[in-house]
Amino acid sequence: GELQTLTVMGLPIHWGAHYEDWLLMRHQQGLGAHVVTLNAEMAMQADQHPELKAVLCQADLAIPDGAGIVLYFRLKGQRIQRCPGIELAESLLQKLTPEHSAFFLGAAPGVAEAAAQNWRSRQPGLNIVGVRDGYFQSDDLPELEAELKALQPTVILVALGVPRQEFWIAERRSLCPQAIWIGVGGSFDIWAG
Ligand code: UDP
Repeated sequence: GELQTLTVMGLPIHWGAHYEDWLLMRHQQGLGAHVVTLNAEMAMQADQHPELKAVLCQADLAIPDGAGIVLYFRLKGQRIQRCPGIELAESLLQKLTPEHSAFFLGAAPGVAEAAAQNWRSRQPGLNIVGVRDGYFQSDDLPELEAELKALQPTVILVALGVPRQEFWIAERRSLCPQAIWIGVGGSFDIWAG
């Protein structure tokens, strides 16, 4: 399916297809994607910070994560459905086959690992090839970047909080150009239980 592009406060929102199918198609085409899960707070931040706005505008897929975004379009007569980022991440992971792989990056020490363990027991075919907490030092960056480059995961979930995760992805996306990169905020904390 084709995606339609709407605009809120100068930021794109994509709407129309099953996002997870669209993303896997992009991956198969070798294009990959940076996914942004937009809410009102991020839109307000972007209004004050042009660098963040530029990153959000460059996203290949921006989904309506927040109720405020959905309401904004409803008031303009455009009905779109809310899609929380955590739900997109879940439906995408559920669609991965053993040939695909996922990398969990972010959250406090132990949290991404616990989230990965929960996913592995729920979905044994899911290939989580790497896990790293979000409190690494800049000294650790070369090793982490080399790991991502070597692994070329299908999906890279980055939970470093807004806006750090958005900048982190934009800066490193070229390491894994075919990957689906998603800034997932507090999702690992929820999956860790
Ligand atoms: N986080 C991290 N490194 C940091 C700061 C935050 O890994 O330097 C993690 C934090 O532990 C949490 C996530 O980023 O798991 C941010 O979650 P939050 O719900 O605050 O997301 P936001 O609302 O910022 O998207």
